[in-house]
Amino acid sequence: MDSPAARLWRFVSRGNHPDLPAEERLKQSILTLIALFIAVLAVGWGTLYLLAGYPVSGAIPLSYALISFLSMGDYFVRKHFAFFRDSQLLLIFLLPFLLMWSLGGFANGSAVMIWALFTPLAAVFFADMRRAIGWLIAFVLFTVLSGILDPILRSRVPSMSADVNVAFFVMNLAASGIGVFLVMYYFRRESLDAQQRMTHANRELAEAYRLLKENEAKIHELMLTDPLTGVANRRALNERLQVELQRCHRYGRALGCILLDVDHFKTINDRHGHLIGDQVLQALARLLRSAVRELDFVARYGGEEFVILLPETDLAGATRFAERLRREIAGLRVPRGPAMITASFGVTACNPGDSPDDLLRRADEALYAAKHDGRDRVVGQA
Ligand code: GH3
Ligand code: MG
Ligand code: MG
Repeated sequence: MDSPAARLWRFVSRGNHPDLPAEERLKQSILTLIALFIAVLAVGWGTLYLLAGYPVSGAIPLSYALISFLSMGDYFVRKHFAFFRDSQLLLIFLLPFLLMWSLGGFANGSAVMIWALFTPLAAVFFADMRRAIGWLIAFVLFTVLSGILDPILRSRVPSMSADVNVAFFVMNLAASGIGVFLVMYYFRRESLDAQQRMTHANRELAEAYRLLKENEAKIHELMLTDPLTGVANRRALNERLQVELQRCHRYGRALGCILLDVDHFKTINDRHGHLIGDQVLQALARLLRSAVRELDFVARYGGEEFVILLPETDLAGATRFAERLRREIAGLRVPRGPAMITASFGVTACNPGDSPDDLLRRADEALYAAKHDGRDRVVGQA
């Protein structure tokens, strides 16, 4: 079963068109709720006036309630919100003035008149600023008119007893207090909601940005990494070579360069299969990566060729390191792979004015010499 509040909300939402945005529907429901609230209040109010002996003043709120209910029914059937809104604003505007006049003017009814100020306020919410200013001007004009009519009205209606006057004043105070509280409550909730939406949106934005940066870093890494072995690829080598050579030329620092090529790799592939060949390359890359220092740089140069850049290392140091690698590779084993894996090494170091091509060409010449001399050896070339 629905709660009474939910049923009331469904009732005041009957005029809403389902295609409207949620915010618009909320506004329409709120105005309908207010109209319903005032109409019910008017019935009570009118009855009280009747009981207090003011038949005209009682008839006005009761007539108001009747017309308001008719307008609501029309809105529920035709779903014509703008017409409903404007007629409700007109009704809410006229009721306090008519009441005050029927009560004999300012002396008995000035507290009631203040209620007409609700119209411009509601127009800001439910219509627009232009209409709100129109209603405010109307309020001023009606107040002036009330001032003009006041001497005539005053003489026609007997003045209220102090007790009745106080009772109506308290009722006005209570009703306006509730109204102010509801408006404050609405704005407070709106601003909290807006804050929450903002925080949520900010968090989502930050998360999206983090993912973007993460993906960017991943893409960058993928662009610079050899997929089979996980070491740097040729593009990364070219970038790194530029940087290292610049350091070498500008500050006169040493830079060693090793080019190594697996011996008879074609035979490994032929005898053990391409898959084992791949595993040999992966094992070799792992070995190279674990053998070098943090500063050094390992890249896959081509099929079974790798380049190692050794900053702060001269030709002699690079040759010694290559010799160590050669011995370590000779001990490398891959399950179901060849009994022995060997590689040949061409070693060189940066000379003044070297371009990346110069350096690699010299390393390649040294490698060629190592192959020519019988493989599984290191050849250095200054
Ligand atoms: P050498 O001792 O003169 O270097 O002889 P080699 O057989 O190693 O030389 P070659 O350059 O003729 O052969 C290299 C082979 O490496 C040929 C190619 O099919 C193979 N190869 C290149 N890339 C890959 C790869 O990613 N995986 C595998 N399994 N084989 C590759
Ligand atoms: Mg080769
Ligand atoms: Mg080879």
